[in-house]
Amino acid sequence: MPTKTLLQAAEVRHLARRAATWGLRIPEVEFDWDAIQRRKDELVRGWADHRRRQLERGGFAFLRAHARFVGPHRLALSSGQTLTARQFVIATGSVVAPPPLPSLAEVGYLTSDLALELPSLPRSLIVLGGGPVALELAQFFARLDVGVTLIQRSDHVLRGMGGDVAEVVETVLRREGMRLFTGTRLREAARVVDGKAVSFEHRGRVETVVAEDILLALGRRPNTAALALEQAGVVTESGRILANLQQQTSAPHIYAAGDCCGPHDIVHLAVQQGEVAGHNLRHATPPRSMDYRLLVRVVFTDPQVAVAGLTGKRGAGGGPRGAGRLVSLLRPRQVGDPGRHGRLREAGGGRPHGRASRGQRGGTGRR
Ligand SMILES: Cc1cc2nc3c(=O)[nH]c(=O)nc-3n(C[C@H](O)[C@H](O)[C@H](O)COP(=O)(O)OP(=O)(O)OC[C@H]3O[C@@H](n4cnc5c(N)ncnc54)[C@H](O)[C@@H]3O)c2cc1C
Repeated sequence: MPTKTLLQAAEVRHLARRAATWGLRIPEVEFDWDAIQRRKDELVRGWADHRRRQLERGGFAFLRAHARFVGPHRLALSSGQTLTARQFVIATGSVVAPPPLPSLAEVGYLTSDLALELPSLPRSLIVLGGGPVALELAQFFARLDVGVTLIQRSDHVLRGMGGDVAEVVETVLRREGMRLFTGTRLREAARVVDGKAVSFEHRGRVETVVAEDILLALGRRPNTAALALEQAGVVTESGRILANLQQQTSAPHIYAAGDCCGPHDIVHLAVQQGEVAGHNLRHATPPRSMDYRLLVRVVFTDPQVAVAGLTGKRGAGGGPRGAGRLVSLLRPRQVGDPGRHGRLREAGGGRPHGRASRGQRGGTGRR
């Protein structure tokens, strides 16, 4: 929610600066960083208060503490309390993955959480990563006059969503003035006189870019390290709790939901997994199961990207049923967005099992 609120401010400014597209004259479009932050904080506070009230009046005991397992049915809380239960649902989310270079830790970097709370805007920013969080924040800062350089390891941003979808986003980001390097390998980070430097391999050369700060957006990892899951017999793989489609872990009385178990860090799936887990621990038969064929993901860049079903290697592009086809979804010229956006990719021999669209409102597109 905080990201989307900020993105909206940057988008309105971007559109206002291109007002001539619609025959409007807006000579200057200034912004007030403090006012943008205030609006975001107010909206988040309202939402958080609503959630807090739901938890406090939920008809269950709501305790504020960090928990860790001290046995299959026993939790030790940071408050000093011990809890026992017949069944559990773990939903501890994810944390920013540690930096891939020790020098990055020495130089210091922003995370997405810190980037959303900055007291003032940096003049320039190096964004490491090319996933949804990296792209959304990179475009946000670039639209508020921050000089952004984005460095992505894979050949395209939005890995796994299809190269054709990514290319459209890359074209727009470059056109808006962002420096974008893909197909890179990070080498080192260092403090320099005028900020922080990152060097990386790119097309057989070593490049070095300098900016006031660095945003580390290379991904997140399940927040399970402090849970002592081995005490409860819950098996993990690289920290991710292994759960079946009924959200049950290797310990039959323990269920998991959300980013701590994956496989997709998407908020509505976390909610759905929680509902499935909640149902299954109360009703053994018939159990409910997750079905990821209906996966829907949206990236709130401008143009937005929406992916429904399984695409890329798991679906449309490399799926067993062969070629996909491109279908026009939006009429982007009407919203002043020239280029090849607003298209829908469909594949699967007549029965669609993967669709991707990108366009100014691609995330909310309907067919
Ligand atoms: C910048 C950013 C933008 C995002 N944008 C989107 C988006 O546009 N769309 C989308 O679908 N998803 C988005 N996501 C991902 C989405 O936020 C997550 O998928 C979702 O929040 C996962 O929910 P969760 O309940 O698993 O974890 P969380 O929401 O992280 O909640 C975990 C909770 O567990 C608590 N906890 C942790 N450890 C313990 C412990 N030991 N004991 C007790 N409590 C503990 C934490 O305090 C926290 O309250 C975004 C994420 C980020 C970082």
